[in-house]
Order: sequence, then structure tokens, then C-alpha cells
Amino acid sequence: MAHATDNRYPELKLLIGGEWRTRAGTPVLNPADESVIGEVPHATRKDLEDAVEATEKGFRVWRKTSPAKRAEIILKAAALMRERVEELAVAMTLEQGKPIGQSRLEVQRAADIIEWDANEGRRVYGRVIPSEPGMRHTVLRQPIGPVAAFSPWNFPVSSPSRKVGGALSAGCSIILKASEETPGGAYQIARAFQDAGLPPGVLNLVTGVPSEISQYLIPQPEIRLVTFTGSIAVGKHLAALAGAHMKPAIMELGGHAPVIVCDDVDPVAAGAAAVMGKSRNAGQVCVSPTRWFVEEKIYEPFARSFADKAASLKIGNGLDPATQLGPLANARRVEAMAEFVADAKAKGGRVLSGGARLANRGYYFPLTVLADLPADARAMREEPFGPIATVSPVKSVEEAIARANELPYGLAAYAFTNSAKKAEQLADGVEVGNLSINHYVASIAETPFGGVKDSGYGREGGSEGLTHYTVVKNVSHLTG
Ligand code: NAD
Repeated sequence: MAHATDNRYPELKLLIGGEWRTRAGTPVLNPADESVIGEVPHATRKDLEDAVEATEKGFRVWRKTSPAKRAEIILKAAALMRERVEELAVAMTLEQGKPIGQSRLEVQRAADIIEWDANEGRRVYGRVIPSEPGMRHTVLRQPIGPVAAFSPWNFPVSSPSRKVGGALSAGCSIILKASEETPGGAYQIARAFQDAGLPPGVLNLVTGVPSEISQYLIPQPEIRLVTFTGSIAVGKHLAALAGAHMKPAIMELGGHAPVIVCDDVDPVAAGAAAVMGKSRNAGQVCVSPTRWFVEEKIYEPFARSFADKAASLKIGNGLDPATQLGPLANARRVEAMAEFVADAKAKGGRVLSGGARLANRGYYFPLTVLADLPADARAMREEPFGPIATVSPVKSVEEAIARANELPYGLAAYAFTNSAKKAEQLADGVEVGNLSINHYVASIAETPFGGVKDSGYGREGGSEGLTHYTVVKNVSHLTG
């Protein structure tokens, strides 16, 4: 059945072997008002079979394409994304809810990532190992092969860009399974690559029932690498499936980022900065700062500044340029936030700001600051993946590091201090893949991004990211 649509939102299709395919599917909703804006096509089994065949054919062509030519096509696609920033950003805010300024930045950041990968793809060097006369050992880095990629709903453009940029720049082909809730970004990326002249089958796009798609694609012998960004539960399931079929995997999963605020910083400024960090994409970010551990001396002024600033955020439809906090992306997140708050109250926590859903239509929930929660409160242990922050006093940096490390996650962490000694202690002691000191940016195109512990393995971005898309082959040649 065709659904009512919004003309600012693209008509979504599958891309298989360079051809667009139209399929019936399910509605895509606007989280700002719960209206239907489009329809996400559901791939059939035949579509998936064709996608695997196409990606194998695409790989044969792409791996023989010179790195310089590959970079030229990939850079053209990134340039098209930049040219189309407004169209992409509006569609993203419509399907996902984030404020339009953040959507524009996400498109630019996605283009940054793709461009950096494209250029780095020309520098995937092997090495020659010194050996006795008449023998030459050469280590080659070759593209690993067709990749099955699964991207989440919270960053509809930048998350698929990491996977597409990495795979294509290393000479791999890819089947991208976009989120069924926010499929527009991946569709726009695929369109940019098509328009840039990418050979057929190098990038294939499918959407539909996630478990059917992963269950089919991962075991296929043509697929040589799995990359997934999403929840820990689904990540463990897909990692096990990949392992059963001996496929390497990149798992970029959830976190529960601690923020350590030392008593040598200005508590009021640190409170205001906390709102900036937490409100990004309404906290629906795997690296979203969540647990603030603040040295006792500045705890109260910090908490007050954080809560006051949080309460002053302008909440509304992300398309309104004045909006600072958009709706959550789906009804599940709103229900989850209400449960975290109820649990916090039942366990004696204080609600310093927010705490309850705002309106009946649209998935709005305010930035909620919870204070003095016991360590067993759900918000202290489970990733809220929404606009909830906790603040707790600590007696020392050592205690803060111990609290930061007490959960089974380790993706991002943040710290604020002007003391070189404390900064070094933090860099040594916090168990994460990414630690940011005195700011809230967890990664840029040039830096490796990923987690430890339950937050996953493998890295996206940086030269480390590209190596996952390659295999090492040693060629030893007896020449004389
Ligand atoms: P969920 O676990 O139900 O689904 C997460 C995503 O995984 C969905 O987009 C879905 O398409 C996909 N998925 C689910 N089952 C799958 C399968 N068998 N094969 C392939 N893909 C599958 O979680 P949710 O309710 O959508 O989101 C809430 C949680 O997800 C959050 O608490 C957060 O931890 C996590 N999440 C993390 C990230 C991240 O960037 N690491 C992004 C989005 C969501």
C-alpha cells in the first residue's frame, strides 16, 4: 500500500547492481509530529541474492581500478553530498528529528570522512622485509572483499558514510543495510555515488526486515567482512553469526560515557558545556556523555549550572532554526526515558531538570539532570540513549576513574581539568577507546574511533580504520 508522503523526503528505492528497484514496504515517520513522510522498501530474498551476486561482480571491477581513479570517483560523490547539503539535511531532520543545524553539520562531517578515506586509500602501503640475497619478502595489503554493513538510525548520513567511505577507499565493494527507521540518508549517499559514476555493484543498498537481511547476508561465502553500528545486544548476536562463519567484524556498539570534572575548572562554564555535550542529537549518540563525576568542592555549583542551562533549552521541531533540542527519534526512546526517571525517583535520586514527556504529539522529552543516584540506579548502569544525565560527587580523581571504569562499557569518556598531572592520570586510567579532555568531540575523520569491553572491537576512521578493510598477504620470492 502506498503511504502519504512529504515532498521534501526522497522516494526510497533499493540499489542493486547499479539499478534502482522499487519495492513495497513500511512507513517512515516524522518524530516531530508522528506523520508519515515516506515508505521504506523491503528487499525480497531474490533482491538479497542479486545484491550478493552484484557485490561480487562489483568487487572484481573495483579492486582492479587504480587507487587514484577510485579516489576520483569517491571524492566526486562527497562533493555531490556537499552540493546537496540542504536537501540531505532537511530529509534527515524529517526522518530523525535532530535540529537542522546539526543535520547540516552531519552531512559536512560525512563528506569529511569520505574525503579523508578516499585520500588515505591511495596510501594503503605494504612493506618489503629485508632478507638474504636472492630472496624477497613483500607484504601486500589487499582489499578484503565484499562487505556487509549495517548502519543505525541515530546518524543516518555519517554512520553509513564511515562504512561506505572505508570499504570503497580500500578497494572493497559493499552491501549497505540502512536503518528501516531513518533510511533516507543512506539512499542519498547511494544516489551521490551513482551520480559520481561508481561502477555497478560496488555499492548496493538494501532495506527491510533487519534480522532477515543479516541472517541471509552474513553467512554468504562472498561476504568477507561484517561491520555493524548499533546496540550491544544486536552486536553480540551479529558478531556470533559472523564468528560462526569465520568472518572478521567491526562492532561499534553502545557506551555509557563518563565525564570527570576536576575541581580546578570553572564549575559554571563546565555546567554550560555539559548541556552542549548532552543535548547533541538529544543524547541519542553512542558517545553521548551521561555520567558526570564531579570533585566535591565544585559539585553543587556545577550541578546548578548544568540544570539551569538544561531547563532553558528551546525544545521543538528540528526544522525550526531556533530549536536546540529536537524530538527523540522514536516512541521507544520516550518510553525508555520515562522508565529511567521513575526508577531514579524510586531509588531516592533528585530530578534537577526535566523529568517528564512534553507533548502528546511528537516524541519530545526534555534534557533531564538526575542527581545523587545510587550506583544501582538504572540510569547509572544502562545506556539511556536519550537526554538523561546523572551527576555524582567524588572525593578524588582516583575515585572518579574507578567509577568511570565500573561498567562493562568502554567507548568514549570525557574529562575537564587544567592539571597536566590529572590529565595524565586520566589518560592512563580510563578504560575507553576515545578520551576527550576539555571538550566534547569524540572523533574526527582522521582519528580512530571505537570501543573496548562490551562497546565492541575494531576501529572506524583514521588509518587504523582502513586496515580492517584489507588483508595482509606475504609474498616470498626466491629470485636467484
Ligand atoms: P535495537 O537493538 O532494537 O535496534 C538497533 C538497530 O539494530 C535497528 O536500527 C535495527 O535495524 C538493527 N537490528 C536489530 N536487529 C537486527 C538484526 N538481527 N540484524 C541486523 N540489524 C538489526 O535498539 P533500538 O531500540 O533501535 O535502539 C536502542 C539502543 O540501540 C540504544 O540503547 C543504543 O544502545 C543502541 N544504538 C546504538 C547506536 C550506536 O551508535 N552505537 C546507534 C543506534 C542505537
